Amino acid sequence: MKRVLFAAFESLPFVKTGGLADVIYALPRAIDKEKYEVKVVLPLFKKIKKNYGEKLKHLNHIVVKTGSIDEKAEVYSFKTGGIDYLFIENDKFFNRDDVYGYDDDVLRFCFYNVAIVEMLIQTGYYPDIVHCHDYHTALFAALCKLKYSENENIKKIKHVFTIHNLIYQGRYGKQILTDYLGFDHKYYEDGTLRYNDECNLMKIGIVMSDIVTTVSKTYAKEIQMPEYGEGLDFVLKYRQEDLYGVVNGIDEKLFDPKKDQIYKNYSLKTHVKGKAFNKEALQEEMGLEKDPDAMLVAVISRLTYQKGMDLVVQSIEDILKKHVQLIVLGSGESKYEYAFKTMEQKHPGQAVFHCEYNENLAHKIYAGSDMLLMPSRFEPCGLSQLIAMRYGTLPLVRETGGLKDTVEPYNKYTKEGRGFSFAPFSAWDMMYVFNIANRVYENKPSDWRMLVKNAMAYNVSFGTSAKEYEELYEKVLG
Ligand code: ADP
Repeated sequence: MKRVLFAAFESLPFVKTGGLADVIYALPRAIDKEKYEVKVVLPLFKKIKKNYGEKLKHLNHIVVKTGSIDEKAEVYSFKTGGIDYLFIENDKFFNRDDVYGYDDDVLRFCFYNVAIVEMLIQTGYYPDIVHCHDYHTALFAALCKLKYSENENIKKIKHVFTIHNLIYQGRYGKQILTDYLGFDHKYYEDGTLRYNDECNLMKIGIVMSDIVTTVSKTYAKEIQMPEYGEGLDFVLKYRQEDLYGVVNGIDEKLFDPKKDQIYKNYSLKTHVKGKAFNKEALQEEMGLEKDPDAMLVAVISRLTYQKGMDLVVQSIEDILKKHVQLIVLGSGESKYEYAFKTMEQKHPGQAVFHCEYNENLAHKIYAGSDMLLMPSRFEPCGLSQLIAMRYGTLPLVRETGGLKDTVEPYNKYTKEGRGFSFAPFSAWDMMYVFNIANRVYENKPSDWRMLVKNAMAYNVSFGTSAKEYEELYEKVLG
């Protein structure tokens, strides 16, 4: 039995700020437990302490040396869903309301990475593979290989590193390497831990790990090009032999229209009536006109540049000229929030904006809508389109990254497909396809129903992808 430790900064059911938490929840559960013993390590945030405090089992007291300071930490464990979760407690860094967004985030990441190594040494638990996720845990491989390599057990660990979004890299001043992590200065001088004139955590993860993966095959290709490479394209090209794209899935139990807390549960068989019921109830809750024939379009997203929100904002009036209703759920950049607030005021009963992060409302919107609009500028994988398909809501997406890999567009001749897509990043192209979709919705209901069926029948689970990760684990273990 091989041991795999997942290291990340967020995971459901404990804390979630985005898709990473969904993946760290679903992927470990999907890995074959006959072959692998899987654990997940997370920081013990305030919210987790509050919700799970009494259920956590104290395992160890550890000392974590960061710079010249000995920080203390406690290690706890908690088992749920067949997964052993390990939590690192340090009140100074983790007993906070939010996961990210603090001035000392870099110190929190450094502490966390060193604490994971120390936890392994001081508890004597040595995994065969540590699978790190995003820049928050990108220092781990470097610490093992450059600083703790005299420990034979640490030296034997193999490192898999997954990039969930290349735009967030963790770029900091070089002094953290020596002052806070205690690396020899030579590793900065010789370029091992250097990127331009700074310390770039993502770059360190990419060069120091044995295998690098990202969350779709298309994104794995895209990020080797300057347009999508966020300045690291040539580093990724340099690692292309060890760079793999494995598409994300979602946990089918967590997102299940048959059991979820929506207005009324439904399945592939009962979706026509089920979705109609959910749509009416959603229209009522949202203060939209009760109109079964209006195409109900949803945006459930961070309101950012990445998510192509400029295309949505530019097209609001064109969209709402039609027999269409629009719900926007999300928060982010103030210019988009302002535009959606204005939209709501201008079109009462036809368009609403909920400027918040609301998990339960999101599920109800997935269930009650006809279409999910997701015109991302770039999208490593995207989970929202997978959730939408699971709930029989057709995604309209831009053909990039995981959106391209998962949303097969409507083919009017073969009746195949499970959504709609466009390629050039322009409002004109998006609206061209939007209008086609709207015509299918209004004039070809049997085609629309076929697409909904295809979408709901599409396998959005982590099953196949978990097998691909297992193959990579076998490969890295040699
Ligand atoms: P991201 O780049 O934000 O991680 P993904 O599509 O990979 O994008 O995952 C987004 C996840 O967050 C999905 O589970 C989606 O339903 C959820 N989500 C996004 N915005 C909101 C919101 N405002 N309220 C509730 N859930 C949201």
